[in-house]
Amino acid sequence: MPSFDTEVSITEDVEIEFEVYCNKCGNGLCNETSTADATNSYSNKRLPTVNVNPCPNCMNEKYDEGYERGHEDCLKDIEKEKEK
Ligand SMILES: [Zn+2]
Repeated sequence: MPSFDTEVSITEDVEIEFEVYCNKCGNGLCNETSTADATNSYSNKRLPTVNVNPCPNCMNEKYDEGYERGHEDCLKDIEKEKEK
């Protein structure tokens, strides 16, 4: 029987659901996540891509830390001015 070798690739669309959590505080980040297909700059292939915004809980925590640090620095500056 005649035959030939050929390459056949079969693709099928599947929907994959997944969860996204902040690795630092455990906050659910599904509402901060979007998905898309994007071209990988190295392979030039279209690949599924996940875009995740920074965790709002951790951002607020860092904002508060920065505010407190700025407040403490300001108080130190005031003390230095008083000593002059
Ligand atoms: Zn977090």
